Amino acid sequence: MSNRRGRLFILSAPSGAGKTTVARRVVETTGRVGISRSYTSRPARAGERDGVDYNFVTADRFLELRASGAFLEWAEVFGDYYGTGTSDTEARLSGGEDLLLVIDVQGARKVRQAGVESVGIFLMPPSFGVLEQRLRGRGRDPEAAIRRRLATAREEIRAFAEYDYVVVNDEVDACADRVRAILLAERSRRMAMTAGAEGVVSTFFASPGNGPGA
Ligand code: ADP
Ligand code: 5GP
Repeated sequence: MSNRRGRLFILSAPSGAGKTTVARRVVETTGRVGISRSYTSRPARAGERDGVDYNFVTADRFLELRASGAFLEWAEVFGDYYGTGTSDTEARLSGGEDLLLVIDVQGARKVRQAGVESVGIFLMPPSFGVLEQRLRGRGRDPEAAIRRRLATAREEIRAFAEYDYVVVNDEVDACADRVRAILLAERSRRMAMTAGAEGVVSTFFASPGNGPGA
């Protein structure tokens, strides 16, 4: 089944709910799945590497790429541009890799509106209070940014209804196990299995008389 095409999984959650942590855990524990590398116009944070965490570009370059139709989806999030490259995504899916798109709810809507086949997974923090603790505990954002992220979370949380699956991120390993289970189940869907199943069926009719009694 080496010519199997990969599937696109969208993982969305309010900022701080744990989608990056969970996506990384899923990739560590599951074969043939990777995280899509987005383009962003935001500056790299300490420890982030260009071409690893994101493709960091200037806002002008981002807009050029967007105008040339390079993005499967894009969104402006907290004042910066973010987008998923169409050709990168296509190359990885055609190579048989499943891809996790860790993107916000606006981007997820664009993927669906474009009619691109995808499986949507929405991660929920256990509560608003826990989300606030995680944002603060991450120690990355100044107070104003934390407040902005929490206000956006209030707007985004009901978007869970737009996704195929909802997983509460109470504990990282348990949450990653559930996301992994979704991934594995989706791989066995009949539509995803048709080519492989036809291959098995063909062995039933390959040539007469090559069965056990022949
Ligand atoms: P996101 O990518 O959704 O913005 P992160 O993956 O950066 O969120 O997680 C936000 C913070 O919460 C990080 O400090 C991370 O270590 C922590 N975190 C994530 N999931 C859990 C969890 N299940 N329990 C406790 N802390 C978590
Ligand atoms: P951060 O700056 O914290 O890495 O990401 C901020 C937000 O941007 C997160 O909600 C993240 O999911 C979202 N994001 C990251 N990459 C993309 C992308 O390619 N497209 C969209 N729509 N959102 C993205």
